[in-house]
Amino acid sequence: MTKSEKSSQIKQWARELGFSACGITRVREASEQRDHLIRWLENNYNGRMEYMARNVDKRLNPAQLVPGARSIIVVLMDYLPAGRLSLRQYKISRYAWGTDYHYVIKKRLRQLLERMQHQWGQVQARAFTDSAPVLERYWAQQAGLGWIGKNSLLLTKQGSYFFIGELIVDIELEYDQPWEKNFCGTCTRCLDACPTHAIVQPRVVDARKCISYLTIEYRGDFSAETQLHGWVFGCDICQQVCPWNRHARPTAVEEFAPRPDLLSLTDKKLESLTKPEFNKIFRHTPVERTGYKGLMRNVRQNQRHSSMAGDKERQND
Ligand code: SF4
Ligand code: SF4
Repeated sequence: MTKSEKSSQIKQWARELGFSACGITRVREASEQRDHLIRWLENNYNGRMEYMARNVDKRLNPAQLVPGARSIIVVLMDYLPAGRLSLRQYKISRYAWGTDYHYVIKKRLRQLLERMQHQWGQVQARAFTDSAPVLERYWAQQAGLGWIGKNSLLLTKQGSYFFIGELIVDIELEYDQPWEKNFCGTCTRCLDACPTHAIVQPRVVDARKCISYLTIEYRGDFSAETQLHGWVFGCDICQQVCPWNRHARPTAVEEFAPRPDLLSLTDKKLESLTKPEFNKIFRHTPVERTGYKGLMRNVRQNQRHSSMAGDKERQND
């Protein structure tokens, strides 16, 4: 089989496994990303995500992650769930309504690898999704899947409600052309809509101000001023306002369908949630990452602000 035939075969398998897109790029050092990454770290925009500052060379060069690595197969999987939650006052990012994508994507990437090994013999590989050592949006752009929007997310003409996964393999394949054109144009909706001004300049997010970071990655207590704007896990605002997401379709991936228990969860119930109830509703969802304590801390912080707003209103009456 030629390299070109292998690449076409991989893309067909990827479609069969439920990935909405697949592109392939050559393994090399992403030297043009070095300055951007170093500046971001020097500004401490990584907050307390110290792991982001470790192994910078590894992050820039996937060849250091897989011995003999030649190619990066990048896949996208849509997650936009159909339906609405019963929550009104509190918000949970849409990517977290179903089963944790780490399980779903890694399982399917392993199946993709098994097909390759079955057909072509020994193939060494490592699968990644949302893993610290890989610049996944950059490689997705290099694999021709989309452009990096001003909100710093990978965008396609169908929007940005998808997960990215990579299989780094030690075989040569035919490569896609990088996506060159940026279709953000003069739009600044994400920058304007971000309630905490976390997008400090196009494509640069200061994690310390980002609600997604604060509600998930940040451990510890919040200061009185920290505003989460109703979000208790993640934040979708800079995606919701993006005009390209008007074209997003609900996912067909069953695992990302919202759980019935989550769909019926009310504000009142969430405010008094017990640990066993948390385990039942959020087991194997991304919300496990922040844990019961983290989720309830986020709920309390929102309550604190709504009561402060109420006090202010009363003072103004
Ligand atoms: S996720 Fe929310 S807080 Fe973070 S940059 Fe986007 S809009 Fe701002
Ligand atoms: S909202 Fe506008 S500027 Fe921001 S990512 Fe979408 S298209 Fe680009």
